[in-house]
Amino acid sequence: MGLAKAVQLEASKSGQDIERAAQALREGLLVGLPTETVYGLGANAWSESALRAVFAAKRRPFNDPLILHTSAASRLGEIAAQIPPQAMRLAEAFWPGPLTLLLPRTPRVPNLVTAGLPTVAVRIPDHPLTLELLRRLEFPVAAPSANPFGYISPTTAAHVFDQLGDAVAYVLDGGPCRLGLESTIVGFDEGIPTVYRLGSLNIDQLVRVVGRVGQRQAAGAAPPVPGALPSHYAPRTPLQIGHPPQPTDPRWGWLSLKTRRPDLPPANQIQLSAVGDLEEAARNLYAALRYLDSLNLTRIYAEPMPDSGLGLALNDRLRRAAAAH
Ligand code: AMP
Ligand code: MG
Repeated sequence: MGLAKAVQLEASKSGQDIERAAQALREGLLVGLPTETVYGLGANAWSESALRAVFAAKRRPFNDPLILHTSAASRLGEIAAQIPPQAMRLAEAFWPGPLTLLLPRTPRVPNLVTAGLPTVAVRIPDHPLTLELLRRLEFPVAAPSANPFGYISPTTAAHVFDQLGDAVAYVLDGGPCRLGLESTIVGFDEGIPTVYRLGSLNIDQLVRVVGRVGQRQAAGAAPPVPGALPSHYAPRTPLQIGHPPQPTDPRWGWLSLKTRRPDLPPANQIQLSAVGDLEEAARNLYAALRYLDSLNLTRIYAEPMPDSGLGLALNDRLRRAAAAH
């Protein structure tokens, strides 16, 4: 979409009008939603046609399940058939927040949401506008990230318009996302909390609440679910993890935590956090990738992040961005 058209669309179809967003969702239309992690493409989870519109807009394959969003744990009954004790403890500790739980589904949850799996992904997002919207609705909202399948997730309302402006009836503009990285997904394999996708909530934080935490490894073998695809969250420009070889090329980009490269043009470089703060880096990652992707570079080199805390999730996203090429 051209910039002028995107700006016009933005003016007419975005704002803080919660009732307008609610009405659009009730009519089965799609709405861009702010959360603390990334922007979602929301749809009435009880409407087959609204769910189909989500997959069509994103060009998302039907075997990639969606996350349901609700406003309170007391409303889980219509979504989850059972809540394991460890899930309850995590929900109490981290909801509203960047934690998605995989729970046994009720028969009411459409197959389109779960891709036919026996579990359903659910979370309570921590954003005042979206929480108020979810409270007003009679149904949960299915909301994958509001980007074309496989591309970089959106962290501002403008990112949503850039790519899905034509697909949405409205975008609730809640400003830039506070965390900027997707939720951490936790399932319960034989009752043991198991991380299915690294995200904004650190493993250390989970461990403090439930003790032992397992981890599903997507590397190598076929991933347990398609959303854990090795290639995802990717710019169109080829991305490679590591320092550029010598001599460098002025059409290369550089993405780092805080290191500058004097041998590359300053305009081709993004330092995610001048002080090396991983939370700031997470908040900036996707906008930085979009910026570098817009420069028509021939290659982006990305410095690996420290392998602890949020650095684990950041490296996971960089690896998947690199795997696309
Ligand atoms: P997103 O596009 O960020 O909303 O991510 C949704 C992701 O959640 C999917 O791609 C899957 O990786 C994961 N997910 C959703 N439902 C399930 C489920 N029932 N079992 C395992 N993973 C799930
Ligand atoms: Mg996504």
